[in-house]
Amino acid sequence: MIKKALLIVLIILLVVVVLVVVNTLTLSSTQERVHALPAPEINPTALQHFKGALAFKTISNSNPALFDSLQFIGFRKYLESTYPNFHAHLQREIVKGYTLLFTWKGKNPLLKPVVLMAHQDVVPIEADTESLWTVDPFAGEVKNDFIWGRGTTDDKINLIGMLEAAEKLLATEFQPERTIYFSFGHDEEIGGSGAIAVANLLKERRVQAEFVMDEGGIITKNQIPGITKPVALLGTSEKGYLSLVLSVEQTGGHSSMPSPETSIDILTRAIVRLRAKPFEARFSESMNGFIESLGPEMPFTQRMAFANPWLFRGLIIGIYEKSAGGNAMIRTTVAPTIIHAGIKDNVIPTLSTATLNFRLLPGDKGGDIIAQVKEIINDDRVSLVTLPGSLSEASAVTPMTSVGYQKISAAIKSSYPDLLTSPFLMIGATDSRYFGEVSTNIIKFSPMIDPIGFHGINERVSLESYKTTLWFYEQLLSELH
Ligand SMILES: [Zn+2]
Repeated sequence: MIKKALLIVLIILLVVVVLVVVNTLTLSSTQERVHALPAPEINPTALQHFKGALAFKTISNSNPALFDSLQFIGFRKYLESTYPNFHAHLQREIVKGYTLLFTWKGKNPLLKPVVLMAHQDVVPIEADTESLWTVDPFAGEVKNDFIWGRGTTDDKINLIGMLEAAEKLLATEFQPERTIYFSFGHDEEIGGSGAIAVANLLKERRVQAEFVMDEGGIITKNQIPGITKPVALLGTSEKGYLSLVLSVEQTGGHSSMPSPETSIDILTRAIVRLRAKPFEARFSESMNGFIESLGPEMPFTQRMAFANPWLFRGLIIGIYEKSAGGNAMIRTTVAPTIIHAGIKDNVIPTLSTATLNFRLLPGDKGGDIIAQVKEIINDDRVSLVTLPGSLSEASAVTPMTSVGYQKISAAIKSSYPDLLTSPFLMIGATDSRYFGEVSTNIIKFSPMIDPIGFHGINERVSLESYKTTLWFYEQLLSELH
C-alpha cells in the first residue's frame, strides 16, 4: 500500500519535472529581430542646442508665487530661433499660457495621428543640496562623457531630441505620412494643467490618436538580473495615485498625567498596522508582458521560473518583494509622507494627523483600497479623508500588439544594436495619464541609457544617451506611416 502511494507521488513528481523542463526548453524568444543602424556622432550644433536649453530655469515650484514666467517665455523664444524650420512648417498653439502644442500635417488624412509628448519644466534644486552639486545645474556642462544639469534626464533630452530630429528631417523636405502632434507641457512636475488642457483640446477636436508617446521607461544595461543585453523598457501602463489623510482626535491635556492612549498612539498604531499588512501581490498585464518578453532571454534557472509561473509564482514574487522598486511593480504600495501632532513638549496634542500616499496597481481601484485600509486599521477613532484631487486611477494597459508598441520597439531596436524591448509598469506618474480618451495606446519611454540623478543631485545623461535619443526620434518620425 505504502509502496503504491510512494510510486504515485514519484510519478507526479516526474511529470512536474518533465513539464517544467519542457516548458523551459520550448520557451522561445518573442523578440522581433531588427537590423540596427549605428547612430551617427552628435553634431556639435545639436549638442550646443541641448546645452542652451538647460540654461533656462523653467522650474516648477509647488508655491505658485515662485513661478518665473520670463524663463518660460525665454525658453519659447529660444526654441523659435533654434528650430526655424520646425516653427515655419508646423502650426503652434500656446495653451494655458506656456504649454506648446505643435501640429505637423501628414500627407495621408486617412491615417490616425500620433501625439509625441515632453515637458519643459524641471524640478527645483533643493536649497540644502545645492552645495552637493559638482557643477552649476543650469550651465549645461559636458564632462566625463556626460551632459550635466537639472532637466537633462527629465525631460529636456526628449523635448530637444524630438525638435532636433524633426528639424533635420524638415531640411530634407520631409513630410510625415500621418499628422504628428507635439505637446510640450509646462507644469508636469506639479500636476500637469497644461497637459490636461491639451488633452481636452484634442478631445474637443475629436482627435483619436493611433498612439501617444511620453517620457517613462529607459534603456538599462545591467538592472535586470540575468539579462546581459541592454533592455528598453516601454511603459505600457501607469500606476494610480491616491493620498489619504488620517486623523485622530482625543482629549489632550498635561503630559504629566497621560491617558492610556493618546491621539498619537492611536494614529501611529494605525500606520504600523497598514505597513505590516501589504496589499496583495499580483502580476499586472505589463508584468506578464515583461515575463513573456524577457523570460526566454534569461539563463536556464531564471528562464525556468519565468517559463512556469504556475509553479514559481510565489518564488518570483518573493524575489521582487526584496527590493523597494521590485515590490512597487507587483502591488499597491503605501508610504506615510506627512505627520502632524503636538506643539509643546509637555502638552498632549488633541489632534494628530498623517498623510499616506498610495500607488495603485492596475486593477486596484481607489475605492477598494480605501475600504481595505479601513478594514486593516479597524479602529473607528481614526477618521479617513481622501486628499482633495489626489485620486487618479491606474491607467489602462497598452497591448504589445498595438501599432504604437510595435513602431517604438522597432525604432529603438534599429537605433541601438543588440537591444531587447519589454513592456513595463510605470511606477511614477506622467502627463500622458490625461490622454486616455485621446488614445487607448499610450507608451511611456525615454530613449536614454541608465540616466543618473533623476530629480536629485548631479542629474546627468551620457553623450551616448543623447546620441541614441536623436537617432531614435529620427527613425521613429520617418517610420510613422
Ligand atoms: Zn518628467
